[in-house]
Amino acid sequence: MATSDARFKADCASCCALCCVAPAFDANQGFGYDKAAHIPCTNLLDTDRCAIHENLAKCGFVGCMIYDCHGAGQWVTQVLFKGASWRDSPQTAQAMFAAFARQTVLHELMVLLATALQYSADPIQMQLLNVKLQEIQLLALPDSKTIEVSAVEGVRQGTMLLLKSLQQTSSFTELKSRYPA
Ligand code: SF4
Ligand code: SF4
Repeated sequence: MATSDARFKADCASCCALCCVAPAFDANQGFGYDKAAHIPCTNLLDTDRCAIHENLAKCGFVGCMIYDCHGAGQWVTQVLFKGASWRDSPQTAQAMFAAFARQTVLHELMVLLATALQYSADPIQMQLLNVKLQEIQLLALPDSKTIEVSAVEGVRQGTMLLLKSLQQTSSFTELKSRYPA
């Protein structure tokens, strides 16, 4: 992604390895084996580090090498849950996993909008993009920790519609390649 905003860069040292536990993954997606959601990967150490970090490709985990949470992991761990861990209690784990699922969507949308802003020189387009970006930033704040999944899906659909409409009137090359008509 073109944006250089540090908020959107994964900071794994400030995260409790949420991506290694919360999502389901399967071998067909380049994750070595089939894992159910909310179950720690068998390669995850008690220190929240990966036992095969230096050998991910050789071990069939290419998916881990290309996965990007766009900063959602440390946002959930440090900002929303004040340094807690899914290891603390089943209740905390459920809440963190749900928040992570929502925040990964919000962070990806913010990255897309920030990238689109970099490609836009049209004031009206920039205003539309900024309004949508601010809307999502509000949803990502701590007091929105329990935001409904339907609200996230609504904002996702709205963002994609906006981006696609702008693609038809501009040269968002990167976005076009990612979301072909
Ligand atoms: S969720 Fe993001 S920050 Fe956390 S370990 Fe995974 S990639 Fe790193
Ligand atoms: S292989 Fe390593 S990086 Fe990939 S999910 Fe498992 S613990 Fe995480």
